[in-house]
Amino acid sequence: MTPPDLPPMPSQDTLDALVRIVGEPHAIRDADSMTPYLVEWRDRYHGKAALVLKPGTTEEVSAILKRANETRTAIVPQGGNTGLVGGQIPFETGHEVVVGMSRLNRVRDIDLGGNTITVEAGVVLANAQAIAASAGRLLPLSLPSEGSCQIGGVLATNAGGLNVLAYGSARDLALGLEVVLADGSVWNGLKALRKDNTGYDLRDLFIGSEGTLGIITAAVLRLFPKPAETVTAFAGLDRLEQAPAFFSRIYERAGQALTAFEIMPRLGLQFVLRHAAPARDPLASPHAWYVLFELSSPRPGEEMKQLAETLLAEGLEAKEIGDAVLASSLTQAQELWRLRELMSEVQKHEGGSIKHDVSVPVAWVPELITRANDLVELMIPGARPVPFGHFGDGNIHYNVSQPPSMDRTIFLSHWEALNAAVHEIVLDLGGSISAEHGIGRLKRDLLPHAKQPLELELMRRIKAAFDLNGILNPGKLL
Ligand code: FAD
Ligand code: ZN
Repeated sequence: MTPPDLPPMPSQDTLDALVRIVGEPHAIRDADSMTPYLVEWRDRYHGKAALVLKPGTTEEVSAILKRANETRTAIVPQGGNTGLVGGQIPFETGHEVVVGMSRLNRVRDIDLGGNTITVEAGVVLANAQAIAASAGRLLPLSLPSEGSCQIGGVLATNAGGLNVLAYGSARDLALGLEVVLADGSVWNGLKALRKDNTGYDLRDLFIGSEGTLGIITAAVLRLFPKPAETVTAFAGLDRLEQAPAFFSRIYERAGQALTAFEIMPRLGLQFVLRHAAPARDPLASPHAWYVLFELSSPRPGEEMKQLAETLLAEGLEAKEIGDAVLASSLTQAQELWRLRELMSEVQKHEGGSIKHDVSVPVAWVPELITRANDLVELMIPGARPVPFGHFGDGNIHYNVSQPPSMDRTIFLSHWEALNAAVHEIVLDLGGSISAEHGIGRLKRDLLPHAKQPLELELMRRIKAAFDLNGILNPGKLL
């Protein structure tokens, strides 16, 4: 990618002043200790930083940004560092200051009557889920990275995950935000309202802005009744073309009770069986594709189980699916989910993997995968597509593992060309080149191909209105 115009190295005076704001124990100056903040999960980016700061309050975040704005110091906000597009990692110049949010980890309020929870940005998602659960509520946002990612990070990336089908993405769950702006002023938008039509929605601008418009310090999130009955089913399909009909059958009858509908290919399941013991094939004979779906209800009883049995029987009868199993215990349900949740990780053991995070209208998913698979075979013969993910949202992680005998580096050198070709199909089908992971650094240069010039111009004007000096995560997203 073309290197961005980054602000220059901050002076020693500026760095010392920034350290004084958080206190010496909460600042990291030494290169080795900074390492965990400078590399990410996929090991794709290795950044450098002038300093890592770990503020403990909104006031400290405000003081940091005020000083940074006055001195034109570039700031990289960082949550749990699980982002998959490099947005949380500074560039290699070493001029930027990383602001880690993990110490802003208080739960400020939980309102059971209003069904909301107010949490600070550094609260780990799984902790927020657990606190909601212990109060008898569901915080439905759920991602495989939930043990590390933070509320600020999931909002800044508008994360999706496994339950979007019924509950929406992070954006749909946030009612209000508290945000520190580039000049240090604090916007208190911590409203807990379902309805508020008072002009432009500032909250929605910050959600998905990937740290380029402000630093989120707290949020009011929606809570839901905790499911009392949940059933998990696993079905084998011989042709992916059957999946839209099977999905429609379930969605029409279950409606909001359908809380997940995921797909994975046989090869993905084989990777899990090969690399993630103990795991076993839930069905007696192999199928080309698998669907994992879940029905949930806040009512105790067997209503969901009966509905799932009926739908599976109808799906078999209509030959939409070839075989199926319904989890008979929580352990079995967890075993089925584990097959899906490991889908990404196990690909690491099969050499290089070229990734895409794309979405198309649900009915076009089989067309997308067929066309992309043909293209892969043409461009890199022997490469092994492992498309999986959130079928019900039309969101597919179109990952391609290298041919077993190919050199990893040579395979990965096809990354950009393959991305460009697959994205062309996606755009042709009316889809998006980033369904849930964002743009960050990885896809920044792809954005002009996917957005209209007018859209980009409006985005640049918004950026300039919020961050005139360009100190917030420069070179990311735009
Ligand atoms: P970080 O990675 O630290 O930051 C991400 C971006 O947000 C950066 O641009 C950063 O600058 C900005 N940012 C962070 N905190 C703040 C803040 N307080 N204010 C302003 N900006 C901020 N994503 C999905 O959507 N769905 C999935 O199913 C999914 N599965 C994943 C599975 C694995 C194994 C992994 C490693 C990642 C997965 N992700 C998924 C991606 C990732 O978990 C999400 O993008 C998550 O929302 C990032 O949260 P984080 O706290 O780690 O943010
Ligand atoms: Zn996903």
